[in-house]
Amino acid sequence: PRQFFVGGNFKMNPSTREQKKDIVKILNDADVDPNTEVVIAPPTLYVLSLADILRKDFKVAAQNAYIKNSGAFTGEISPAQLADAGVPYVILGHSERRTLFRETSELVAQKTRAAIDAGLSAILCIGETLEEREAGKCTQIIETQLQAVVRVTKEANWSKIVIAYEPVWAIGTGKVATTAQAQEAHGDIRKFLHRVVSPAVAESTRVIYGGSVSAGNCGELAKQPDVDGFLVGGASLKPEFVNIINSRR
Ligand code: 13P
Repeated sequence: PRQFFVGGNFKMNPSTREQKKDIVKILNDADVDPNTEVVIAPPTLYVLSLADILRKDFKVAAQNAYIKNSGAFTGEISPAQLADAGVPYVILGHSERRTLFRETSELVAQKTRAAIDAGLSAILCIGETLEEREAGKCTQIIETQLQAVVRVTKEANWSKIVIAYEPVWAIGTGKVATTAQAQEAHGDIRKFLHRVVSPAVAESTRVIYGGSVSAGNCGELAKQPDVDGFLVGGASLKPEFVNIINSRR
């Protein structure tokens, strides 16, 4: 059985350290399902200070990392630095990075490889735009994004990857995927892994859903056989994040 996984992607929030403390207090005081793996990804500036005050059964993640471990790359953070600082996870290939910061699937694949080589686990984000979905290209887009990673990843390293299916049209829009849409895409991802990596990797890799997840819609989504958890944006900054963590309870 795959362990249920809930990630909180704070994105470039909150904007003050005080707000950060308020969120951590809510999480630290919460009664949560001990069977769920919880990972919080604050802005890089806050990763270590948040880890210090966060309950120890929750992990932290960075929201991005570069492909090199050191050197003249102004403004970047390296996977080796994250590993050395004790940060276990990094989010890679988020649609905001792909779109606003022009990250290609090839770059995301290289980042995934570099993260794993440095000893990190990756939350690898993939997903189609509305235009691509309406053109019937959903499966094709997902497979192309995954294929780039497959090319540079050894079979044994898939245990270090959590796949986050985040349809771009559902991110921050309040338009959550239907349970059928999510299950179909997650099923396609698993079939793809079965075909191009191995049946064992397809069976063991967690595929989580992201895009307008809320306390109201998480319960039904969490019942889908191929939905192994969530990557939560806006709602991860609110008390309802606790309900999402507990959506299988
Ligand atoms: P929202 O939950 O705000 O739609 O964001 C989803 C997301 O991008 C998580 O990475």
